[in-house]
Amino acid sequence: MPGKVLLIYTGGTIGMVDDPESGSLKAINFKDLINFIPDLKRLKIEIDTYAFEKPIDSSNADDRFWIKIVEIIKQNYFSYDGFVILHGTDTMAYTGSALSFMISNLSKPIILTGAQLPLGTLRTDGRENLISAIEIASAKRKDGRAWVPEVAIYFENKLYRANRTHKYNAEYFDAFESPNYPPLAEAGIHIYYNEKVINYSNTEEIVNFNTQLDRNVAVLKLFPGINENVVEQILNIDGLRGIVLETYGTGNAPTYKWFLNKLKAAIDKNIIIYNVTQCNAGRVELGRYETSKYLRDLGVVSGYDITFEAAITKLMFLLGQELSFEQIRHYLESNIAGEISKN
Ligand code: ASP
Repeated sequence: MPGKVLLIYTGGTIGMVDDPESGSLKAINFKDLINFIPDLKRLKIEIDTYAFEKPIDSSNADDRFWIKIVEIIKQNYFSYDGFVILHGTDTMAYTGSALSFMISNLSKPIILTGAQLPLGTLRTDGRENLISAIEIASAKRKDGRAWVPEVAIYFENKLYRANRTHKYNAEYFDAFESPNYPPLAEAGIHIYYNEKVINYSNTEEIVNFNTQLDRNVAVLKLFPGINENVVEQILNIDGLRGIVLETYGTGNAPTYKWFLNKLKAAIDKNIIIYNVTQCNAGRVELGRYETSKYLRDLGVVSGYDITFEAAITKLMFLLGQELSFEQIRHYLESNIAGEISKN
């Protein structure tokens, strides 16, 4: 039986054309887009499409956009073998991370992909990305189960767990990296699945869709010379419930009294402080240096090797659930969707 995939088109460069009037790239109608890749018909895969009425540049993605995607997948979950989401690259890692928390116990692939060059251009990377993503979304193991029952990003021959990715290059075709987790699959002449690192653990459970999110979060990125008043203002934002604290190296921060006192005052008001390293790879190790030991003593929560994209979306997700301050802190330090490895 041929596989059946739902292709969801949300926007992004992959479906854009040059607008001669403005000189900028703008989104085209999805029906035109499919004309650029007649080869899709040669795949022995049944492909249905769902196009967003107004395709967006992914810079305009927000929580409502993620919820819309989750709802489309929810409505169609049992009718397809897998899903491919065409999405702008700029915030693809955020959407992928958010979906990985919002949809649990997946038994089917949800593959995000896009392109650095529009499908209509000669050197486009979109064609291969799209075709391979569709193949992966319908790929089954011998026992009939999906090869990749995960939310993943396919880009430039590699399939990554979405909540491990980061867009690191605005120029090259391999725009994404997954510095702390190996690729789930690699495509050459064949597509090789890296079975050992794909998560099959929850495929027997009933899939769950959860669209509760809380946007009362902020980011405090440290830099030498950061102004006391700036820190004060951020930590006192009205309604604030959690911040991602972007620290140095293995989770280090200044030990100035004023800084630690302000963090303590925020934690005393039940504001979550989630420590994520500014480094691209590696992990937070609270207590390794004196400069992070203070943070641990204050009650700052460790993000271990989580990406910034996964950290901020995980915080929004957990704050949206009916959980106590302590439970949220506990889950932030736990691996809930493959986003952190503790050792
Ligand atoms: N600005 C575009 C977007 O993220 C870039 C891309 O698709 O690559 O929608």
